Amino acid sequence: MRVAVVGAGIAGLVAARDLAAAGHAAVIVEKSRGLGGRMAARRVGGTVVDHGLPVLEVPPGGAVAALVRECAPGAVPLDGDAVAWPAGMTVLPKAMAAAVPAAGSVELLLDTRVAALRAGTQGIEVAQDQGNTIGVFDAVVITAPAPQAVELLEHSPEPGRAEALRAVQYDPAVMLLAGFAMDEPGWVAARPNSGPVAYVTNEAVKGRPPVDGVVPVVARLRPDASERLFDASDDVVLAEAIPAMRTVLGPGTPEPAWTQVKRWRYCTARSQVDQAMANPQGSRIIIAGDAVAPGPTVEDVARTGEWAARRLITG
Ligand SMILES: Cc1cc2nc3c(=O)[nH]c(=O)nc-3n(C[C@H](O)[C@H](O)[C@H](O)COP(=O)(O)OP(=O)(O)OC[C@H]3O[C@@H](n4cnc5c(N)ncnc54)[C@H](O)[C@@H]3O)c2cc1C
Repeated sequence: MRVAVVGAGIAGLVAARDLAAAGHAAVIVEKSRGLGGRMAARRVGGTVVDHGLPVLEVPPGGAVAALVRECAPGAVPLDGDAVAWPAGMTVLPKAMAAAVPAAGSVELLLDTRVAALRAGTQGIEVAQDQGNTIGVFDAVVITAPAPQAVELLEHSPEPGRAEALRAVQYDPAVMLLAGFAMDEPGWVAARPNSGPVAYVTNEAVKGRPPVDGVVPVVARLRPDASERLFDASDDVVLAEAIPAMRTVLGPGTPEPAWTQVKRWRYCTARSQVDQAMANPQGSRIIIAGDAVAPGPTVEDVARTGEWAARRLITG
């Protein structure tokens, strides 16, 4: 079987891995230039910061624990079951993509946005933005956040499938990445009691020592503040966020040495729909990802990738 997997986040990578392990060919099509989706990291201020998922919770004995053990040792243990990698959250997705099971094959197409699925005589034709065909597949797994999956289903042979996913709403998130010349905080994450900032993470504690005494931190704005400031300029975001960050970093914290603002339109799902309900028996277009996860954690999301592969393999 040849399967197109839309999205190289955790759900898509797990689905592709399981399909390949069962002897099938998976082609992961990802619109961004990098792997990991919302497990995201970038280089800034001479260091690395995680500007998506801040830490990875690894419940003992779960799917994520197996992934971390098999693919990406070297994780730094943090509070509780949480881990992070010195080189950033993308270590795990990159390692997963590199660890291709021998039985089948996994091909990666980066920087390629899937815009439409068409019924063809040989299978499902997967098309790019400009209408060019990426290929013809026996099945497609869609792992994009629900609103993007809806858009794709509307341009598919099964447009009625979009209805089930419309109920899934997302909180946006405005993230402020910043470096402060200060003493390193003693915590992994701190939550101001009020104001626009939901939490601040100490990125140095993830095995990324301060560069020239500058401690990297990431602040996530609360959903209401993120909604309000989503289209605001970076200067406006900074003017609101920095004073709020000082409530946990200390009132005397100097102006940041560097800053960057990152905006996520679809950050975390407020609810999920049942994966079996969203995927009628017999359909060759399978929905996976956080929209259909049994819960809100990355462990839950990984399980949707396993479910998608199993559904296609066992019918
Ligand atoms: C700032 C932030 C904080 C978070 N905090 C937490 C937390 O504390 N705890 C927690 O459990 N979760 C948290 N999450 C959510 C968690 O990261 C996600 O639930 C999980 O990573 C989703 O994985 P996924 O594979 O379902 O989707 P994604 O990682 O979003 O992957 C989907 C991929 O599909 C690609 N794509 C979309 N449309 C197309 C298309 N048409 N063609 C090709 N590719 C496409 C996207 O580019 C993306 O790479 C957070 C997320 C963010 C951004």
